[in-house]
Amino acid sequence: MTSRCDVAVVGAGIAGLTSAALLAAEGLDVVLLEAHSQSGGCAGTFRRGAYTFDVGATQVAGFEPGGIHQRLFRHFGVPLPQAAPLDPGCSVWLAGETTPIRLWRDPERWQAERLRQFPGSARFWELCAALHRSNWAFAARDPVLPPRTGWDLAQLLGALRPGTLASGLFMTATIADLLRLSGGGGDGRLRRFLDLQLKLYSQEPADRTAALYGATVLAMAQAPLGLWHLQGSMQQLSQALELALAQAGGQLRLRHRLERLQSNPLGGWSLEGAGPARRPFRLQADEVVCTLPPQALQGLLGAALPRAYSRRIEACGDPSGALVLYGAVPRQLLPPDLGLHAQLEWRDPGNLFVSISAEADGRAPAGQASLIASVFTPARPWFGLEEAVYQRRKQKALAGIHAGLEALLGLRPEQFLHAELATPRGWAGWTGRPFGFVGGLGQHPSRFGPFGLASRTPVPGLWLCGDAIYPGEGTAGVSLSALTACRQLLARRGHALEIGA
Ligand SMILES: Cc1cc2nc3c(=O)[nH]c(=O)nc-3n(C[C@H](O)[C@H](O)[C@H](O)COP(=O)(O)OP(=O)(O)OC[C@H]3O[C@@H](n4cnc5c(N)ncnc54)[C@H](O)[C@@H]3O)c2cc1C
Repeated sequence: MTSRCDVAVVGAGIAGLTSAALLAAEGLDVVLLEAHSQSGGCAGTFRRGAYTFDVGATQVAGFEPGGIHQRLFRHFGVPLPQAAPLDPGCSVWLAGETTPIRLWRDPERWQAERLRQFPGSARFWELCAALHRSNWAFAARDPVLPPRTGWDLAQLLGALRPGTLASGLFMTATIADLLRLSGGGGDGRLRRFLDLQLKLYSQEPADRTAALYGATVLAMAQAPLGLWHLQGSMQQLSQALELALAQAGGQLRLRHRLERLQSNPLGGWSLEGAGPARRPFRLQADEVVCTLPPQALQGLLGAALPRAYSRRIEACGDPSGALVLYGAVPRQLLPPDLGLHAQLEWRDPGNLFVSISAEADGRAPAGQASLIASVFTPARPWFGLEEAVYQRRKQKALAGIHAGLEALLGLRPEQFLHAELATPRGWAGWTGRPFGFVGGLGQHPSRFGPFGLASRTPVPGLWLCGDAIYPGEGTAGVSLSALTACRQLLARRGHALEIGA
């Protein structure tokens, strides 16, 4: 049976849920297609026995007043999910060191910590802080980047201020350039710290992370912004967005995998795929918002994807994959002052980002903690392997992560109450992302802001959002990209979308 709607949104991760709820709240007839049996995507959760694991995202930004999630939920008239600010946002352990660098929430405490940890770095941090202030004020004015039409350009120009123009001078610079400019280029320990933090949030080290992006990433853990821990699980965020969508009259169709996207000769789109029990479905839509990585477009559109655009996507290079250990341990085995998030500089299989559940936060029984350790890794090498080779590689990666956790926390593998590893293959299955690509395009200056992929594609009526689109990965980032795509789509229909500051 064929049904029809004004806009079909593809993928019910945070980008898709946000887009669908925004468009439905403006009175459009919206259908949100999701391949999985639940929403949330990379910010979803799964259960194993007594444990609830956050599959990817474990901490959120944008919950502060004026932050993107807070603005959106106020706009939807839905309560913001319950969350506690993280303090410290993260404890960062450099290899071979016994005490961590702690990213305190209080800006003055963090300033004292970083100057104690990295003497002589004050000018570097001042420069980062100045760029961040200007970026943040700019981002809060909802610019459209990169601009592709006169309307986009007008939004961009409307968001510019003299301060933005000054920070624009650093458009092609990297964080390593800022370090050199401020006289801190020789501090190898600071450089290692920056590489660790930046690879986590921008997929690139300091000498490849755009200064304008990196300056904000390095300020995310501090008030008045900050990082937050959701009570219950990360699924609370998608459930609250599902509520916003339902209240606005939009439809979420779970277990609907889009397989083919075709533009109709007389306008609009035909969407075909497999529904529940693999029954085929067909949907007609005037416009489509696609939240899958752009690398998925070739498979969906085939020859209809313009060649130049396809080459542009290929030229962006491969995003990362992820290895994630989902574990559980007796809480008393954890160091008492660990905090909920830690990063460890680790060689094999790579730097670890560790997230631990809080007592009574809904993720593990009393006296136990869930422990999630993730590593970004090249994705393609995990595919096309013989099963035995794949299993050996998986066991080696698991052993490497356990070795890192033993070095960091003194936890031996046999002390785990539960442990399972997801590889890029598992991510491809969970998220439907080609090669299990996650994390978006690395935030190199050549791909950041005006040089990145736009939410407005060259194919009329096809819009993109998600972690490959400005401003990039993270639940806050993909929500901003969803807002941009929806503003553009609605503007084309002569309707202005404002969600308040
Ligand atoms: C290991 C890891 C740790 C992370 N940690 C954090 C963190 O702590 N904080 C943070 O803010 N961010 C974090 N992130 C990033 C964050 O999770 C993502 O940037 C964000 O959730 C992406 O949302 P999205 O909606 O763009 O994409 P997705 O979440 O991937 O959503 C896409 C949806 O589309 C569906 N789909 C795919 N193909 C089809 C199809 N053909 N038809 C229909 N549906 C389809 C998928 O099932 C999925 O639900 C992390 C990511 C990873 C991988």
